[in-house]
Amino acid sequence: MSDCIFCKIANGEIPTDLLYEDDEVVAFRDLNPVAPTHVLVVPKRHYVDIADGVPGSTVEAMIRAANLIVEREGIRVSGFRYVMNAGADAGQAVNHLHLHVLGGTRLRNDFGKRE
Ligand code: 5GP
Ligand code: ZN
Repeated sequence: MSDCIFCKIANGEIPTDLLYEDDEVVAFRDLNPVAPTHVLVVPKRHYVDIADGVPGSTVEAMIRAANLIVEREGIRVSGFRYVMNAGADAGQAVNHLHLHVLGGTRLRNDFGKRE
């Protein structure tokens, strides 16, 4: 996926401050944060979304990284939310699987009610 922005971030083609990196995933701050903590956890391999045949080991690596971010950001106790958008109705803007880690404020709780 030569034209994929998250592939380029994950392989270092676009220099980005990484909060975390291992063999499977990277994590970095969202360009347009909607909460004091807004971090994206992104697998290094390209998958379109969570339903795109993602290996269990990759899902596990994403959650493990997200849990680490939550500890480091100090939102383990105050609360946090993990979000994965898929497709148009969910408003997915970047078609490379990513997990949003949100916290540090009271988050609205409408579960993405119809716009
Ligand atoms: P989606 O709507 O696809 O779930 O979320 C995509 C997210 O990626 C958005 O929150 C957007 O702000 C973020 N984003 C898009 N392009 C970039 C980028 O080049 N760098 C960073 N750090 N975040 C990006
Ligand atoms: Zn990609």
